[in-house]
Amino acid sequence: MTWPTDLAERRLDEESGLPLPFVCEHDDGSGDLAHLSKKRVLQCALSRVCAACGLSGLPNPLPLLGTEDEVEDNGFRIPPMHDACLAAALAWTRLGRPVLGQTVARPAWRVVRTGGFDLDRPDGTGHPAYPTFRPHSVVSVREVV
Ligand SMILES: [Zn+2]
Repeated sequence: MTWPTDLAERRLDEESGLPLPFVCEHDDGSGDLAHLSKKRVLQCALSRVCAACGLSGLPNPLPLLGTEDEVEDNGFRIPPMHDACLAAALAWTRLGRPVLGQTVARPAWRVVRTGGFDLDRPDGTGHPAYPTFRPHSVVSVREVV
C-alpha cells in the first residue's frame, strides 16, 4: 500500500498505525479512526476539502465512500475524497473494526460517484444524528472489497 504523500505525513492512529484521516481529527490533534469530528465533516462539506488528507482539488464527479446501508438510504457520513486518498482509505475499511463513524465493523463498502450533494445538517433535535451527505445525481456505484 502506497499512501499519497499528504496522507502519509498525517499523524498516525495509535491503534492501527495507519495515518489518521483529516475528518477523524479534532482541531487539538486528538481523535481516532473510529469517530468522525463533526466540525471537520462540516468543514469538508463547506470548503470542499478531502475527508482523508484535508486538501482541496477534489475530482468531478465526486467519489463518496459508504456502506451498503448508506447507499440504500442515499445518506453518507464521510465527505468526498481524492481518488488516491480513496484507494488508500480501503486500508481503514479493511481493518475489520468500526471505522470512520461506524459503530460496528462493516465488511461491505461502496463508492458512489455524484455530480453533487445536499448536506443534511443536524437540526438540534437529533435528526439527522450526524451531518449527512445526500448525492442528488449519482453517476455510478461500485463495490469495493
Ligand atoms: Zn485527499
